[in-house]
Amino acid sequence: MLVGCSSPAKDPLACAREVDADVVQLHLSAPRVWRDPKQRIDADELRDAALVVSAHAPYLCNPASADPAVREKTTRSLQVTLDEAARCGARGVVVHAGHAAGGGTMEDAVARWIEVARPLHSDVALLIENTAAGQTAPGRHLADIARLFGALRAVDLDVPLGACFDTCHAWAGDPLCATNPAGYVAAFAEATGGIDLLHVNDSKDEAGAGRDRHTNLGTGRMGLDVLEAMVTTAERLGAPAAIVETPSEDGGHRADIAMLRSWTADAGEAALR
Ligand SMILES: [Zn+2]
Repeated sequence: MLVGCSSPAKDPLACAREVDADVVQLHLSAPRVWRDPKQRIDADELRDAALVVSAHAPYLCNPASADPAVREKTTRSLQVTLDEAARCGARGVVVHAGHAAGGGTMEDAVARWIEVARPLHSDVALLIENTAAGQTAPGRHLADIARLFGALRAVDLDVPLGACFDTCHAWAGDPLCATNPAGYVAAFAEATGGIDLLHVNDSKDEAGAGRDRHTNLGTGRMGLDVLEAMVTTAERLGAPAAIVETPSEDGGHRADIAMLRSWTADAGEAALR
């Protein structure tokens, strides 16, 4: 399995070298404002690097929002991020599954998702990530995740669809996760059709707390045994890459990546582009 970390957008190649990452995830535009990505000057370098790159859409994106203006901005933001991701040779663009902000049922949330995804066109995969919080959030509980993916897969989309599983979000979002973490990962893969990217983060909060606060592996409430069970299950089910989105200070990423490597099989040259 390829392992790596989220990287500051500034110099992902240097970041990867520094922490010994096979894969990096970066934002292609400021994560908390609606702004189109600028064309990266290191796009060729990123594309040619023996490194897998994944991109993360801005956090404002909410395909399940009741507000048509937010959905329209989300479609635009996803499209321009997919376009720039393609220039940079990224394998996927991660987007949170969102929530029905402004009202509506789960059925409405799923219908809004379809409306947002339908105009998108790209060869880069859109990776929908499970979420820790929010009411009427289609990425929070397994039955809703299955419903969202089922509905999206039934539509003839012009973008490959994939799933990103975040260990912290599952732990904090759904109390079911803590009772059988490995089984939960397997059930998620079943609901989505597979795991394309793993986000491995410990949680500062108790199981089912509904909060999204990441921390370094082994320093939160999940415990290393739970995290290891989730990672090895995802690897066994074919997840190709795992990244940490944890604090990088004081060697945090380096230590977390070393921990991931101790749990996973060496990816080898074949998995690299
Ligand atoms: Zn994540």
